[in-house]
Amino acid sequence: MGTTSVLVVEDEKNLAEALKFNLERQGYDVIVEHEGHGAIQRISNDPPNLVILDVMLPGLDGFEVCRRVRTHSSVPIMMLTARGEEVDRVLGLEIGADDYITKPFSLRELQARVRALLRRGSGELSPPVTAVAESGNLRISPDARRVWLDGDELTLRPREFDLLAFFVRNRDLALSRRQLLDGAWGSDYVGDERTVDVHVRALREAIESDPSKPERIVTVRGVGYRFEG
Ligand code: CA
Repeated sequence: MGTTSVLVVEDEKNLAEALKFNLERQGYDVIVEHEGHGAIQRISNDPPNLVILDVMLPGLDGFEVCRRVRTHSSVPIMMLTARGEEVDRVLGLEIGADDYITKPFSLRELQARVRALLRRGSGELSPPVTAVAESGNLRISPDARRVWLDGDELTLRPREFDLLAFFVRNRDLALSRRQLLDGAWGSDYVGDERTVDVHVRALREAIESDPSKPERIVTVRGVGYRFEG
């Protein structure tokens, strides 16, 4: 296995250099881009294993970069947000970021998040389930981290895949948002319960025939959600 490459997209040169220095010491191959167009280009020409993407960039902002990258890539993306505002985080997740971290952050926290996201992307945290699970027209292979709907493969982001795999393992049970957070993404994932709603919405878009009238991932009022297959 080659080196793991991380693309840092940040216009503040000091912060970009600090991230590069720190991540290189962890053994990653680090490339820095200072603006969005260059980042989009690089991701399509030479896809990294992970992208750390600042929201506040000159020209295209981080949200727009994320949106454009998501039209052709499912690379894990961690957004850097300057403010801890809920709206920023939720918007970031809705347009396809996999995680976010609020400035100022400690480098230790960043490293932990990077490791967690990379592990998830590679599936190392998945339980050793080799069987392909079937549920109606949905097939899921936890080991290969692949999902098919009516025989067509779906492209899910790492967090959506984890959530779907957890739902399938716990079919027909009413699950609270907290259980879903811990069960799907592990206790090292720092997220709030609205994060679950954001990812449930994305999964419904992917697997429900009518996402506005979900029949597989149903809402359990006052509790959370239940997967009915
Ligand atoms: Ca910036």
